[in-house]
Amino acid sequence: MRGQLDVTHTYMIDRIHTSQVEADAGSVAIAGHVHEIRDLGGLVFLIVRDREGLIQVVFKEEREPELFEAVQDVGSEDVVRIVGEPVESDQAPGGVEIAPTEYEVIDEADSPLPLEISKDVDVDLSTRLDNRALDLRKPEVLSVFTLRSELMTAMEEWFEAEEFVDIKTPRISKGGAEGGAELFPILYYDKDAFLSQSPQLYKQMLMAAGYEAVYENGTAFRAEDFATSRHVSEIAMFDVELAYIEDHHDVMDVQEESLRHALRAAAENAERELDVLDVDLQVPEEDFPRITFDEALDILETEYGHFPDDPTDLDTKGEKLLGEYFEEQGHPAFFVVGYPDEKFYYMQDVEGDDVASRKFDLIYKGQELSSGGQREHDVERMVEVMEEQGVETANFEFYIEALSFGTPPHGGYGLGIDRLVQKVAELDNIKEAIMFPRDPNRLEP
Ligand code: ATP
Ligand code: MG
Repeated sequence: MRGQLDVTHTYMIDRIHTSQVEADAGSVAIAGHVHEIRDLGGLVFLIVRDREGLIQVVFKEEREPELFEAVQDVGSEDVVRIVGEPVESDQAPGGVEIAPTEYEVIDEADSPLPLEISKDVDVDLSTRLDNRALDLRKPEVLSVFTLRSELMTAMEEWFEAEEFVDIKTPRISKGGAEGGAELFPILYYDKDAFLSQSPQLYKQMLMAAGYEAVYENGTAFRAEDFATSRHVSEIAMFDVELAYIEDHHDVMDVQEESLRHALRAAAENAERELDVLDVDLQVPEEDFPRITFDEALDILETEYGHFPDDPTDLDTKGEKLLGEYFEEQGHPAFFVVGYPDEKFYYMQDVEGDDVASRKFDLIYKGQELSSGGQREHDVERMVEVMEEQGVETANFEFYIEALSFGTPPHGGYGLGIDRLVQKVAELDNIKEAIMFPRDPNRLEP
């Protein structure tokens, strides 16, 4: 974490964070949830948890009989405030414990708890998500989200420093950019509409409008019927688009530098969180390798005897194997460039029958994190490709028109933030990286 919450307004309850408590510093006030209670007869140990960590408070019958009497009724997860003297203690978490002089229960928790917070009991993800409000209290779960917050703050910081414009495009639209089957239909007054799959068309319209460089820290909805550990229905998507590029390598440069910045910031500012998660985050300081799609197929064939089912795309196994291949060479992140069969908005390099689109995927720790590339800014050429691909141009009239009044060369990408957090925090399932995830079977909580 960067700083401490240091709000001195008089209406805040007087307290400091557990991480600020130092031995022999005089009387302090702390507040938080009761994480653990240990009753040893004449001694009661309370472990109190706040956002910054844990602290031990020791109630001694001999020393403070009244407080000792009061603490007999304490329950797990009660919210308490304690004033006392911090003293050194080898056994206590953080090496400090508090001898209380004041003890107050601010709010009692119901019992029994449907989910254990402090004990490391093996609960399946579905039960955890059913009880997410409690699950989120676990220090290791909180660590995921403070880490996520660090990554996002740093990511935005990079784009702000580079003078990208922070944009917001609509979440409600008439159609989608990525294909009809994955759209969530909604009723918009008396009309059929859809939740947005991607800000793709709008980002490009802003390039035509001369905004030059934009980013959107947004949300995308995909009605995919998946059962994987890397898909969700509501996705945190970080979209970027920039104009006056020479080619798609300029876009990869932006992706690479901004990601490196975010990872560096996480390694620096989220040290405690990474520690709680037991993650040794290696920042990829060297250039990310950029291989062509054909080279990727070659590596898969010669090194692993693997042939993706669809010869124009990499499958999950292919991405994973390539991930291992580059990880062994010290590269957790790399780009695959020039997929042959791509959506109409990607610029194509055509040589005879061979088509290599200027599309790239970023693969990080064996999983696709983003797709991007250079876009086709020549509207006539784009409409030709749409017709070749059987895309109904009538559905894209507003977009085609917007690009037809002079559009600079441009490109961009969409980065899946949930997948980024999943990979950085080394989580098995993407849903663990989302506070309240949505999948085909989950609309609550
Ligand atoms: P995949 O092939 O892995 O399903 P995609 O190629 O369909 O992904 P894109 O349209 O390229 O996805 O979206 C850009 C990025 O958004 C992806 O690289 C990924 O990080 C993220 N993303 C897309 N769909 C999902 C999803 N259903 N759940 C989580 N993240 C997603
Ligand atoms: Mg993709």
